[in-house]
Amino acid sequence: MNYSFSELVSLEKIKRLLERMHKITAVSYFMVDENDVIIVSSDEKNEGVIFCKNNLKLFDIEEKYINDIMKSYDIKNKMDMFQYEDGLVCIGIPIRVDGQVVAELFASGFLVCSLLNYESKECEKEVLSLIGDNPEVRRPNVRLIFDFIIEISQLIEDICVNKINQRKLEKRLILKEKKVRENSEKLSCVYEQLAVAEEELRNQTNELKEKQRHLKASEEQIQYMAYHDALTGLPNRDFFINRLNIELEDLNIDKDEKGAIFFIDLDNFKNINDTLGLEYGDRILKKFTEILKKCIGKKELLCRGEGDEFLILQSKIKGISHAENTANKILNLFRKPITIEDSEVYATVSIGITLFPDNGKDMSTLLKNADTAMYKAKDLGKNRYEFYRKSMHEGLIRKTEIEAKLRHAIKNNEFEIHYQPQVDSSTGQVVSLEALIRWNNSELGNISPLEFIPIAEETGLIIPIGEWVLKTACRQNKKWKDKGYSYETIAVNISPIQLQQDDFVYKVKKILEQTSLPPECLELEITENAVMKSLDSTVNILHELHEMGVKTALDDFGTGYSSLSYLKTLPIDTLKIDKSFIDDIGNKPFEESITEGIILLAHKMKLDIIAEGVELKEQLDILKNKKCDKIQGYYFSKPRNPKEIEKILKLGGFDINY
Ligand code: C2E
Ligand code: MG
Ligand code: MG
Repeated sequence: MNYSFSELVSLEKIKRLLERMHKITAVSYFMVDENDVIIVSSDEKNEGVIFCKNNLKLFDIEEKYINDIMKSYDIKNKMDMFQYEDGLVCIGIPIRVDGQVVAELFASGFLVCSLLNYESKECEKEVLSLIGDNPEVRRPNVRLIFDFIIEISQLIEDICVNKINQRKLEKRLILKEKKVRENSEKLSCVYEQLAVAEEELRNQTNELKEKQRHLKASEEQIQYMAYHDALTGLPNRDFFINRLNIELEDLNIDKDEKGAIFFIDLDNFKNINDTLGLEYGDRILKKFTEILKKCIGKKELLCRGEGDEFLILQSKIKGISHAENTANKILNLFRKPITIEDSEVYATVSIGITLFPDNGKDMSTLLKNADTAMYKAKDLGKNRYEFYRKSMHEGLIRKTEIEAKLRHAIKNNEFEIHYQPQVDSSTGQVVSLEALIRWNNSELGNISPLEFIPIAEETGLIIPIGEWVLKTACRQNKKWKDKGYSYETIAVNISPIQLQQDDFVYKVKKILEQTSLPPECLELEITENAVMKSLDSTVNILHELHEMGVKTALDDFGTGYSSLSYLKTLPIDTLKIDKSFIDDIGNKPFEESITEGIILLAHKMKLDIIAEGVELKEQLDILKNKKCDKIQGYYFSKPRNPKEIEKILKLGGFDINY
């Protein structure tokens, strides 16, 4: 790089410096820059200097001579030495920076002869004459002057170098600053990107957290749903099983710890569902849940099983009385009617209770036992509780067997109908017959309808079975009618479950059509209990049947509600006094007078009256005496198969005087 001397130094300062040198040494000076232009000089007008400069030529004193001088002053390589034409000697000291000569300081006007003098006086004289008025520098001072001038030039050089260094430094600083600025720009750019990325990351993290929250919530929801019942909000059967298993594991038999499992089933819930609809059924279940919650302690667990089943787990109870108290509490609460939207429903429950470890040490045995006990409670008339006993199990096995066989009984032609005559008490004539189903299974043998009809009702199998009975009895009836036997009707027992079917009347009509039996030849027997279960709908059905011409009888009168008040609202033709009353005739005057009262009332209401289960002549006589129209019972005939009945029909009846 090329330096410009004037840019490196302040010429004013240089000038002041050289002026001082001039004053001290009396040596004239001038200085040229890198372009050989005079920039400062001791001669203000520069005339002399210009002259000097222009006449500058190398010392023409012999080379050797010069060298000697230089050598003697040890200045070789530090300065050049010139001689003007007039003999004056001038020295030039180049100012170098980075190897470049940026200026040259010329000093002149001192007596060269003082330098040269050591040769000869002669020469000195000659030189002196040559330089005329020029100052003289005495020889002893030459060395000092040289050194001083060299020092000065050195100083100037230092100033230049300093300046350059300063510049370089500045430049480097600027570069550094630029770099720093660039870096900081880059850095702030990176920071910005980082902030954006951070924001994005934060958003993503939040999103992720939200998703995780959702996931956790739905996991919890799934978990909750897996172990809870949606309708009642109660824990479900699986939850119950898990808890029971834990309870059984923790059970300390040594401390005589006990627990109880309650299996609660709503009585006749199927009927409620069938008649009032599923939605109503659901409301009842919710209401039941509320009631049951009132019966359990804080540490007891209430769960919903399947359908209308509820489970209670009582752990660490002191004894059986604790479970008994709970069961009684539940039954009492269900004695009151349940109010649902202004309507009151009576609903009861059957409860099966099993104790652990007494009745089992594993979950499945215990649940099975509680279930068995519950079914026992149902069998024993519902609305009660039963503790599990071993013997119950056998009953259940029999029941399960019957149910299984019953399913195939129609298809396998296992049913038969027997007929029992209903006899005119005064003439002995068969006025009607009751159709009674008989079941003979190849494995189980003869099974009483008293045993299998309730099972058929529970399982719904009573619908096809009842239809089969009705059709078969009507067909038989038609046959006998066609043969001209003189009886009036054949009565067919109808289960309450059949009555609750919407199409019941339609089915009766269809069967009458199919068998071509005149409706007035058919009587349908319904029980008191069936009527009371849904009085309004039964009354409607009975009216429809009446309109069709079909007769109706109220069976087992006296065993149920025996409310005489509803009798007048029922469109029935016949009242059948239950065998239990007949059994007591002759022995118990109170029962006898009740029977008399029933007969009188029936007559007043223009109802036919049949006494069921008459076995003895004495009973017959009393009933005859009390003007009971018809008699049904072993006294005249057991229920018999159609062939045997036909024989009786052929005879027309029985000998009353026998
Ligand atoms: P139910 O309708 O009251 O029938 C009378 C029952 O008393 C019959 O029992 C009959 O055999 C019995 N019986 C009649 N006279 C006497 C007697 O003098 N002494 C004794 N000890 N018993 C007598 P069965 O046939 O065993 O029927 C029992 C119950 O089963 C019936 O009582 C009825 O409720 C039901 N049932 C029978 N057949 C059918 C049917 O086809 N459909 C429906 N739904 N129920 C039926
Ligand atoms: Mg009957
Ligand atoms: Mg009866």
